[in-house]
Amino acid sequence: MRLLLVEDDIELSQSLQKKLTGKGFAVDIADNGLDAEFMGDEESYDIAILDLGLPQRSGIEVLTNWRKKSNKIPVIILTGRDTWHERIDGFKAGADDYLGKPFHIEELIMRIQALLRRTHDMTGQILQCDNFQLDEECQQLLIEGQEALQLTGTEFKLLRYFMLNPSKVLSKTRLVEHVYDQDFDRDSNLIEVYIRRLRNILGKERIVTRRGQGYIFMDSIA
Ligand code: CA
Repeated sequence: MRLLLVEDDIELSQSLQKKLTGKGFAVDIADNGLDAEFMGDEESYDIAILDLGLPQRSGIEVLTNWRKKSNKIPVIILTGRDTWHERIDGFKAGADDYLGKPFHIEELIMRIQALLRRTHDMTGQILQCDNFQLDEECQQLLIEGQEALQLTGTEFKLLRYFMLNPSKVLSKTRLVEHVYDQDFDRDSNLIEVYIRRLRNILGKERIVTRRGQGYIFMDSIA
């Protein structure tokens, strides 16, 4: 899952980026409204975390412009603690959730995970599929009747993206875009290596290859 973090407080954005990266998110930062709007339109983000008070273009304007252009990127706005009117304006402009500053990073992570599940029509608190679960907190795979398996960062990110998008043809490019941030050297052949690893763990039939198109994650296997 790839996030766009829009925040002009550099200290805050860098500390958030570090923590979110540790939780298996690829994070790109914009520190002003103009860059934020452009990046949100050009790149494939799963969620934007949008501060409202920004240089060059306010968060509300950025969000309003995205929605005008039918950009449906899910948005969590960051607002001042006691500024209820900002929250109202944010929701009116098309925000999906909000968080008042200052906040605990744990709450932001919970809201991101909940919003991701909501936007992918998933219910419940855990990512589950047939006989296994993905523990997002510990980045472990829990397979029924087996010991918990610790995944590497990329294995976790890739599997989470697959589990949130079952039964869809996902191209290599799309997988790369949603698993890595913009600074990453995006060699899409690397994805194949990780898909092979996931197949070794979950069984070959779990991830089907569509030649020339991409991969399909099967959420249930007959
Ligand atoms: Ca600000």
